[in-house]
Amino acid sequence: MNVEKYLRKVGDEIWFTEFEKDNLKIDYRIKEVVYSETSPFQHILILDSYDYGPMLVLDGAIQTTTRDGYIYNEMITHVPLNIHPNPKNVLIIGGGDCGAAREVAKYPGIEKIDMVEIDEKVVEVSKKYLKEVSGNLSDPRVNFIFDDGSAYVKQKRDYLYDVIIVDSSDPVGPAVKLFETEFYQDLYNNLHEDGLMVCQSESPIYYPEMMVSIHRRLNNVFPIVKMYMATVPTYPAGFWTFTIGSKKYHEPNPEAFDKETKYVNKEIIKSCFSLPNFVKAQLNID
Ligand code: SAM
Repeated sequence: MNVEKYLRKVGDEIWFTEFEKDNLKIDYRIKEVVYSETSPFQHILILDSYDYGPMLVLDGAIQTTTRDGYIYNEMITHVPLNIHPNPKNVLIIGGGDCGAAREVAKYPGIEKIDMVEIDEKVVEVSKKYLKEVSGNLSDPRVNFIFDDGSAYVKQKRDYLYDVIIVDSSDPVGPAVKLFETEFYQDLYNNLHEDGLMVCQSESPIYYPEMMVSIHRRLNNVFPIVKMYMATVPTYPAGFWTFTIGSKKYHEPNPEAFDKETKYVNKEIIKSCFSLPNFVKAQLNID
């Protein structure tokens, strides 16, 4: 990865460019490059930015920032955990910034949180430099497994999961397999008969084809598929989707929500499944 392509000095200033699409890029002014290394899987940057605070960037794509990362991490965890009435075993795939695991750890009834992240270095630097996101996670129920998520769900285990959270990076590099039907079928096989999974399903503005394909592939595997949305300012186009594949439960229970959060609340759990007309049209649903 050619770091100079997206990180450059202009006089005394440092600017980071995120290349969104062929004809669109966004520049962030940076106070300091805190960490920059290439792991066996990707180039990892921790940048301290003026407007979004410290941020994690993998192969040039912003993954999370201290200013808005909680929106994504709360939405990808509390919504599925509110739909399942009694989750005990949770699997997180990806999620190297530890923000999702930190939210899952807010549920005392959850006994086991397996987190399968391909890149140990992302966890290490997020714990060290992104404490506002990772909370320097040290809950004893979190069991870190450094492996490829697609390989992990193929292995035989003597237990199943209630909820699986796929907190992956975009479908490039090591994450490509996490968007394939075969992977979704493996998730299905790793879930109890009333289990459910959730994944981040990209932007309906910039990547509608990917969003629709995730929805279609999950429909081929799960009897219930539901999409919900949130706005995450540093993700491409801001407007972001999440998709649930479930074997049994699909109704949220907002009244039961009692966690301390910065974004998610009872009203948001209730309303996040209301999709705009253009998204319904893209998905071909009513
Ligand atoms: N919230 C973020 C977003 O949507 O941009 C994703 C955050 S999290 C940092 C994504 C993580 O997925 C990264 O740490 C990356 O290393 C991990 N990852 C990518 N491919 C993976 C795979 N095949 N198995 C497990 N983890 C993977």
